[in-house]
Amino acid sequence: MPYLEFFNPVEETLDRAGIERLQLERLQRTVRHCMNSPFYRERFAGAGLTPDDIRSLDDLKKIPFTTKQDLRDTYPFGMASVPLDRCTRLHSSSGTTGNPTVILHTKRDLEQWAVAVARCLWMVGCRPEDVFQNTSGYGMFTGGLGFQYGAELLGMLTIPAAAGNTLRQIKFFTDFGTTVVHAIPSYAARLYEVMCERGVDPRRDTKLRIMAIGAEPHSEDTRRRIEEMLGVKAYNSFGMSEMCGPGVGFECKEQNGMHIWEDYYIVEIIDPDTLERVPDGQVGELVLTTLNREAMPLLRYRTRDLTRILPGDCPCGRCHKRIDRLKGRSDDMIILKGVNIFPIQIEQVLMQFRELASDYLITLETIDGNDVMTVEIELSDRFIDDYAAFQKLERDIIRSLRDEILVTPRIKLIPKGSLPKSEGKAVRVRDLRKQY
Ligand code: AMP
Ligand code: ZN
Repeated sequence: MPYLEFFNPVEETLDRAGIERLQLERLQRTVRHCMNSPFYRERFAGAGLTPDDIRSLDDLKKIPFTTKQDLRDTYPFGMASVPLDRCTRLHSSSGTTGNPTVILHTKRDLEQWAVAVARCLWMVGCRPEDVFQNTSGYGMFTGGLGFQYGAELLGMLTIPAAAGNTLRQIKFFTDFGTTVVHAIPSYAARLYEVMCERGVDPRRDTKLRIMAIGAEPHSEDTRRRIEEMLGVKAYNSFGMSEMCGPGVGFECKEQNGMHIWEDYYIVEIIDPDTLERVPDGQVGELVLTTLNREAMPLLRYRTRDLTRILPGDCPCGRCHKRIDRLKGRSDDMIILKGVNIFPIQIEQVLMQFRELASDYLITLETIDGNDVMTVEIELSDRFIDDYAAFQKLERDIIRSLRDEILVTPRIKLIPKGSLPKSEGKAVRVRDLRKQY
């Protein structure tokens, strides 16, 4: 049976004018709908705005930004635009200090999310005959359920392998004939290493052909390495919990920038200092407005991700704007194994231990193919001569850190005064990870 190239031919092939017409209609609808949320009602009142003031796409500029802090301040349900009994799922973003951020979804939101992910996978050639294996965690991390529902909607045989247990992942590849894998880039490299150790040749012994990689920054070289190692085509996948999860942006077969589905989102790039929009091609902070969410629409959400809109048309024929691979963040968030961590979270845990001084250094490095975080901490003046007490302290710190940041760091307790002191702002994070 011949397949159409597009999953949603109508939306995917809209021309610029068509996209903008649809965006305006959906933006106006979204803004009106947002007035059901106490947060946006207040925001609009504070800015002297009413939904009727949004008459063109350009009027978006009048709407104040929404930030992660707003999500925390309205924790847990203050941003909902529908009553809770209409919501069918809650995701909570990983690694935030104090209140986590909560994202609510209605049944329709989840359906639309699955469509967006299916569209991404179809775009790069996934078809119902494919066997899809997901190596993401299936908890609050949206890479699990997000890809699961999208892959099922597309009709592939899905293997919800979940995170970890690399040997089992590889056994599934060979036994179940996996053709498509979703993995974070650092884990893709780990899969290859373990395959080599076990004498598994991905080209000879597996049917792997497509990989979706995302959730953490990686370079073009990293992608090429993954492709060469595993014998696959690897496509960059961008998403974030606040926008649902995966399915926001995805590379097409051209592998030249990620199309953002503009019938779902309005894309803006702003200068993080002046907060003014920058022209296409210039790097700035990505700001997204949701256009078809029910439970928790977000207007002009500051993602903190730095990127640029790639000027010009994509040869694939889709007019949906493309963003460049992510260049970093306008805040100090670290992404380790796909988990978002703010240095302040680590500091807050450390400072609860009176045996510790206030200087610490977080080092991120790749050891034996694994991304590892080591936290060096100076001991306070008190000398710990009891070895058992020293070991207990180490264990307690590791446990507290793991509870807070969801990954297990290594720790080194070092004598007071041993960390290099910087002149100005303290250097708290060293990222030595191998980009491969
Ligand atoms: P989360 O809300 O836990 O899904 O994390 C979302 C964040 O992960 C984004 O704001 C980005 O900083 C990062 N991220 C997601 N996808 C990518 C990608 N393809 N490349 C680089 N960073 C990404
Ligand atoms: Zn394209």
